[in-house]
Amino acid sequence: MDAIYIPQLTRASERTEEFQVEEFLPGLETLTPVRGNVRVQHHGNYLEVSGQAEAIITCTCNRCLQQYNQRLGVDTKEIIWLDEAANQVEDLPLEREVAMEDLIETLPPDGYFYPSEWLYEQMCLAMPQRQLCDRNCPGIISNSADSSNQLVDNRWASLEALKKQLPG
Ligand SMILES: [Zn+2]
Repeated sequence: MDAIYIPQLTRASERTEEFQVEEFLPGLETLTPVRGNVRVQHHGNYLEVSGQAEAIITCTCNRCLQQYNQRLGVDTKEIIWLDEAANQVEDLPLEREVAMEDLIETLPPDGYFYPSEWLYEQMCLAMPQRQLCDRNCPGIISNSADSSNQLVDNRWASLEALKKQLPG
């Protein structure tokens, strides 16, 4: 997916660009390529970005540490404001309070939008925080108790064998 030069988007048909995605995203470990689409529409002072995509990822179960595969999907829409002040961070004091509007995505109106990066972020947000191979995963099954029983059984068995050898 190529970067979109935002001013160019205003000249696109319906001010919209749509991408089909079928690729591995840099930095995102997936078993299958990320498949789906990303749609970007220019609304004058904001971009409306929507995307549907899915891939298979390999997770590690938090309980039993086994690896398992899981489908990771996104179906999302986001507004990205176009603001001249976006990315102009040079003259900001270092310890600035984080205002609410800082949490909203903004881009300069004459900048670029990177569909791959956007999709990467959406996929990361969709990653399961708690990874379980199964809702009823019993966790790591300890074999230590069984094996010590086994050991004792073996000893008894050899004692039994010894007994049989003795004249009765
Ligand atoms: Zn598990």
